[in-house]
Amino acid sequence: MQPNSIDQSIDKPALFSGLSLAPSLLLAIKKMDFEQPTPVQLQAIPLALEGKDLLVSAETGSGKTAAFLLPILQHLLTMPTTRGTRALVLTPTRELAQQVFKQCQQLTEFTELKTGLITGGDDFRLQQNMLRRNTEIVIATPGRVLELMDQDIPDFSNLEVLVLDEADRMLDMGFSEDVLTIANSCNAQRQTLLFSATLTHFGVIKMADKVLNNHEIVALNTLHDGHRNIEQQIVLADDNDHKLKLLTWLLQNETYDKALVFTNSRLQADALRGPLRGQKLRVGVLHGEMDQKDRNRMMELFRGGEVKVMLATDLAARGLDIKGINLVINFDVPRNGINYIHRIGRTGRVDELGLTIALVKHTEWNLMSGIERFLKQKFKKRAIKELEGKYKGPKKLKASGKATGGKKKEEPKKAAMEKVKVRLRDKKNVGKRRVPSSKPAVDGTQA
Ligand code: AMP
Repeated sequence: MQPNSIDQSIDKPALFSGLSLAPSLLLAIKKMDFEQPTPVQLQAIPLALEGKDLLVSAETGSGKTAAFLLPILQHLLTMPTTRGTRALVLTPTRELAQQVFKQCQQLTEFTELKTGLITGGDDFRLQQNMLRRNTEIVIATPGRVLELMDQDIPDFSNLEVLVLDEADRMLDMGFSEDVLTIANSCNAQRQTLLFSATLTHFGVIKMADKVLNNHEIVALNTLHDGHRNIEQQIVLADDNDHKLKLLTWLLQNETYDKALVFTNSRLQADALRGPLRGQKLRVGVLHGEMDQKDRNRMMELFRGGEVKVMLATDLAARGLDIKGINLVINFDVPRNGINYIHRIGRTGRVDELGLTIALVKHTEWNLMSGIERFLKQKFKKRAIKELEGKYKGPKKLKASGKATGGKKKEEPKKAAMEKVKVRLRDKKNVGKRRVPSSKPAVDGTQA
């Protein structure tokens, strides 16, 4: 099968030989007829080779398997051998484990590295023996690994790389606890690569918070998938006053246990507190400039339910893991897709639905449509009858979803053209009669 998304837009085709891979791996790649790296391989391999933890969105068919196997193999070939399993790949199903295993065998054909497969249904003894023989790379499903762990067999204390493949599916299949147990039994200094078809799966973001360390995000091919459990809505607003009314209405009328309201600045978060308290809402504020003691106290109040609505900035909310947050409102549209993902990842729990609403005014439309494009998703537009404003979105949209027109941008262009015309006219008139005037012309140039 060919990968479904080789990027044709790259002028000079990128080659595997440019990815700092060992000759033995390049030989295997050639034998497998991989001519060019796919986009996910191009982006993920160099970062993984730097030893970074990664959260990667890539669907099946994108070439994601080689995107994690190649940097692992390169790493194992260059670092001195240790005892025990050196790389562990966890997959949700036996079938996927078998596919990854097969690809790993092909890629290691010209090396001494050994790969093992551990899935339910296969001979337990053989798997025990394979692990005892210091097989470097183990591809496995979580259930059987746990069974073996009960017998104290696998040794992940020297593990160098852990991969969670199709993490969203693993979580949907109920493996969340199993995966965490296995991850916690692994060497804490390891590198971890988390691959998921979608980044808007709250479980994935929570898992990423727990197992990744200072990670980078590679966002590609996010699916219009059916297993998102965060409903994402957009409510249009005229200005910040209108937003405040909408926010108050939503906090008074939506059903939620705890709500998190994001602003882009500390000042905005502080400014909302008074009016919301005035509406008898139990509101707290969390931002980066509060000292740790105040932050901890605020978190305790939120956790305990004394505070039901928390106003927060992005920085303050990183890593916030509080149960029962099932409503996230973006008072300000976040500055980029990654912040958006982190914000919405605060909502929902494994067995719950979460709702996230962005309040969008006209100056934020393009930012919001950029986020939709980044996530390859269209959010549901919602109108609040009681508070409908004048702004209904741009009259015309570009194919990208952004507003057409941009008159303000056209103006300087027009002015520049006028200036050129004036200069040309002046050139023509050199030596001719000149009007001795310094009166500015309409566009501000000197006539
Ligand atoms: P995956 O997304 O990892 O399941 O890969 C999908 C298919 O694409 C598999 O059959 C791979 O063997 C193949 N493949 C992966 N990378 C490349 C590449 N760079 N060029 C051609 N085929 C590839």
